[in-house]
Amino acid sequence: MYAAMDTIPNDAPLPATLERWLTGPRFNRLPAPSAHDAVPELSFEFFPPRTEALEAQLWACIRRLEVLHPRFVSVTYGAGGTTQARTHATVARILRETSLTPAAHLTCVGAVSGAIDDVAREYWDVGVRHIVALRGDVPGGGDYVPHPGGYAYASDLVAGLRRVADFEIMVAAYPETHPAAASPEADLDNLKRKLDAGATRAITNYFFDADVFLRFLDRALAAGITAPIVPGIMPVSNFAQARKFSEMCGATVPPWMARLFEGTEEDPETRRIVAAVTAAEQVRVLQASGVDEFHFYTLNRPDLTYAIAHILGVRPGGK
Ligand SMILES: Cc1cc2nc3c(=O)[nH]c(=O)nc-3n(C[C@H](O)[C@H](O)[C@H](O)COP(=O)(O)OP(=O)(O)OC[C@H]3O[C@@H](n4cnc5c(N)ncnc54)[C@H](O)[C@@H]3O)c2cc1C
Repeated sequence: MYAAMDTIPNDAPLPATLERWLTGPRFNRLPAPSAHDAVPELSFEFFPPRTEALEAQLWACIRRLEVLHPRFVSVTYGAGGTTQARTHATVARILRETSLTPAAHLTCVGAVSGAIDDVAREYWDVGVRHIVALRGDVPGGGDYVPHPGGYAYASDLVAGLRRVADFEIMVAAYPETHPAAASPEADLDNLKRKLDAGATRAITNYFFDADVFLRFLDRALAAGITAPIVPGIMPVSNFAQARKFSEMCGATVPPWMARLFEGTEEDPETRRIVAAVTAAEQVRVLQASGVDEFHFYTLNRPDLTYAIAHILGVRPGGK
């Protein structure tokens, strides 16, 4: 290389590759967590199955991830409460048949507050102690209008749940601001309201640039929020679908990500490897920045989550 440089006249433009090599940034590697670093805590989100086949897929997923000893596993509540019975059945079965701690999602949409309190009370009575309290969205899209006699916003639901029983309550946070928020500041005020109402931690919507989360943490701290804010990690295996969904929930899909997946549409094997590397890089940057808790949106598929947990240092029977 150096011998070759000697042959280039001083005032001649450098070939592009050489210029990049001489002037571009140098990377060594991300710091690997040392044996003394604490292993991060994980949690996993599942959705309640609609069919027997999906039920079998969910339970294979639960069993595969159970050995990683997550802090809790959560089960979503379909838009407008459409999965109420299935969510309840899944949570109850997790409680009955596994060593896991289930957290039930609950939303405000489409029900009076008394009915939601009843659902919460049923959870408490079967032994559920963790709730993810959400406003929810209107089924099929459209503007949200609070149900007459219902809880209007998640902060109201948190306050209501506090009156029902001594749950550990988690709430949603939005590193890129909730799409309906008046401003990023108003959205942070809302997060603070939910925590002040009795929630003890927040889980974020997913994001792809680690920087987005780290800047959000800075802003939350500056707003006086000191409760744990856990990054929601979405390992993407279907890029086209993730892009569509991201548009709806206000998560930015960075151009570098589109570029990484480009050309893998008909090539599932390459796509899987790209997906694993993309998610692994994201969590490693977060881990290197001191993040020690991660919430995975598993979409009831364990493999990517399991592999990424391994990279984070979480192993079966590790605790
Ligand atoms: C971790 C996580 C899990 C989720 N799980 C589910 C699920 O299981 N089922 C489901 O249907 N959806 C789920 N969602 C999606 C969630 O329901 C939607 O994002 C919904 O649009 C907002 O819910 P929220 O709890 O954040 O609402 P809120 O915290 O109530 O906020 C909603 C919007 O209203 C604004 N706002 C809040 N209070 C007021 C007020 N008093 N006046 C005016 N504006 C106000 C906020 O700034 C925000 O823009 C989940 C989201 C996340 C991040």
